[in-house]
This record gives sequence, C-alpha cells and structure tokens, in this order.
Amino acid sequence: MSGHDQVSSPFGRASEFVARLGSSDRAQRAVTASPAAREVARRFIAAENTGEAVETVRQNHTKGLRSTLEPLLAPARGVDDVRAAVGAHRELVQEVSRAGLASVAEVTVKPSTIGLGLSDARLAQAALGEICLAARNAGSLVSLDLEEPSTTDETYALFSLCHQDFPQLGVTVQSRQRRSLVDSRWLASMPARVRLCKGGYSQPWATGHITGQDVDQSFIACLEVLMAGRGHPMVATHDPQLVEATIQIAGQHQRAGDSYEFQMYHGVRPWEHRRLVDTGHQVRVHLPVGSDWYAYLLRRVTERPANVMPLLRALVTRR
Ligand SMILES: Cc1cc2nc3c(=O)[nH]c(=O)nc-3n(C[C@H](O)[C@H](O)[C@H](O)COP(=O)(O)OP(=O)(O)OC[C@H]3O[C@@H](n4cnc5c(N)ncnc54)[C@H](O)[C@@H]3O)c2cc1C
Repeated sequence: MSGHDQVSSPFGRASEFVARLGSSDRAQRAVTASPAAREVARRFIAAENTGEAVETVRQNHTKGLRSTLEPLLAPARGVDDVRAAVGAHRELVQEVSRAGLASVAEVTVKPSTIGLGLSDARLAQAALGEICLAARNAGSLVSLDLEEPSTTDETYALFSLCHQDFPQLGVTVQSRQRRSLVDSRWLASMPARVRLCKGGYSQPWATGHITGQDVDQSFIACLEVLMAGRGHPMVATHDPQLVEATIQIAGQHQRAGDSYEFQMYHGVRPWEHRRLVDTGHQVRVHLPVGSDWYAYLLRRVTERPANVMPLLRALVTRR
C-alpha cells in the first residue's frame, strides 16, 4: 500500500502532519538545525556536495551497484534557476567522468527544475539538450523524472524532442496514472530507456488508480509491455512482489540480464540491492545530492508510515 492510502490511520494523520511541515519555514529551520533529524536524513540523503556524491558512486560501484544522481533543486522560477540547474547536472556528470565512473552513473532530471511549465517552452528543451550533451561528452546518461500528473503531456513532448538527438535519454511512466498502459505501448515501440514506477504523486480517480492493488496491477501490465518491447526497462520499485514479478516476466521474454535494470532509493532496502546484484541482476541506486535536503526528506518520510515516527521523535527530543 502506498503512502497516499494512509489518510485516516494514526500513521496517516502523522504523515499529514509531516507533509504540512513542508509549508512552514519555522519547521524547516527546526528540522534542519536538529542533529537528530539530520541523522534521520542521512539515511536517505547520499551526499551534500559533488565530492561526497562521487565518493558514494565509487562505493556503490565496488558493491556492483550503478547510481543515478539527482541534484536537490526547487522548481525553476526563471532563467537564473534554469541556468543553475543545468550547471548542477553538468558538474555531476563531469566529476563522475573525471573519477572514471561515468559508465556506472547517470543523472536524473526533474523537468520542473529546468523550466518545464515556464512561459517560454524552449527554455526546458534547451536546458535538457545541454545536460544531455554534457552527459554524452562525459560518457554518461540522463533520465527524465515524471512529476505531477498534470505535467505528463508536456514532459513526454520534451522527451520526444530531445530523444531524437539523444536516443539514450531515459523517461518515466507512473503506473498510478490510468494512461500509463497507453504510454508504455508508445514507449515500448522505440529503443528507449523507460523507468517504470508506481508514482509518487496523488491524483483524482478520473485520471489515476487510487487503491494500491489497482496501481500494482497497472504496474504489471506496463511491465509486460515494456519487457516485450524494444527498449531498456528500468524497474523502480522496492515492492518485493513487483521485484519477483519483474524477474519472472524478464525470464518469460528471455531478456538478457543487461537489457533491463532495477532502480531503488539510497537507504531503502539496501540488503535487497545486494541480493539482486549477487543473483546476477543490474541495480541502480538513486542518490539525491545537495544541502537543501528538507523537501526530499519529507517526501521519503511521508511515503512510508514507519519513517514518520523516527522523524517526529527526533524533533521532540531536540538532540
Ligand atoms: C529510482 C527511483 C526513481 C523514481 N522516479 C520517480 C518519478 O520520476 N516519478 C514519480 O512519481 N515517482 C518516482 N519514484 C517513486 C515511486 O513512484 C514510488 O513512490 C516509490 O518508489 C515507492 O514505491 P514502491 O514501488 O517502492 O512501493 P511501496 O509499496 O511504496 O513500497 C514497497 C516497500 O518498499 C519499502 N519502501 C518504499 N518506500 C520507502 C521509503 N520511502 N522509506 C522506507 N522504505 C520504503 C518498504 O519496505 C515498502 O513496504 C521513483 C522511485 C525510485 C526508486
């Protein structure tokens, strides 16, 4: 069951409370100043700067894990923010390349951070093109996140434009969206890198599956299509049943081990990362990078009821 289904339980109310912390500057100051809350954050935040990020990529590599790096950035409000986002992604691919790790690390881009939704539509396209070019020159890769469901059409339009010049650009499908099967069929018809996830954004019944079971069934249907297709499926889930289903479906389609991959968050089910690698699967770990980790921490915490209590305890004890 996903975090969006938790609304009326005590955990659900605690999650709502934590979600509300996101809009309070005072709460942000209290959380970021609390050493105990920082400890909770350290579980999920791989690195606060580029040097630490490269080191974490190196450590992952020694364990047989690949990495995807996400600079923690707020949505762009104008050209300056877009330029800063391009710089942050470029720096990451260049530094992992300098460390000889470009082939085992990619960057992942939140479209809102490069200007998707701003009045000049060309901004995001130019920014994504620059990031893809820097990654290609560095020998690395780029994927596009999918954010709020209302941005799906725009995100896929952006993907289509850049994919022509950069066929290695990856894109995301959220099985929570009712349209996800149609999108998967479209994406499976080309040799594209496609990340399949449940989707971290709630949405109304008209456009999204609401129950966890429906989201999971939709996930399996999309998985079948992507595994049968021409591309490279990137299966982003920690759900044990979906992990097993992936292995089975990949086997049915006689997929070679390097023709698809699992993706999981840094700090979530780390033994599963190792188990999958040890049994011959490719696993890529998502590494958020930056000192501005507050919003990211709240997203991870509200996703999972069991994460709420350690954070609340950390705030109350004020260590
Ligand atoms: C690499 C990667 C990229 C992603 N990209 C996107 C994207 O572009 N757009 C988007 O909307 N969503 C994205 N997501 C988020 C995704 O949609 C889900 O919200 C998230 O992965 C949780 O769903 P799940 O499939 O792991 O299943 P769940 O049912 O949520 O979790 C299954 C199990 O995994 C563990 N688990 C899951 N999350 C946590 C957590 N936060 N803390 C501790 N344990 C946890 C628990 O053991 C849980 O029981 C991405 C996720 C990953 C890993």
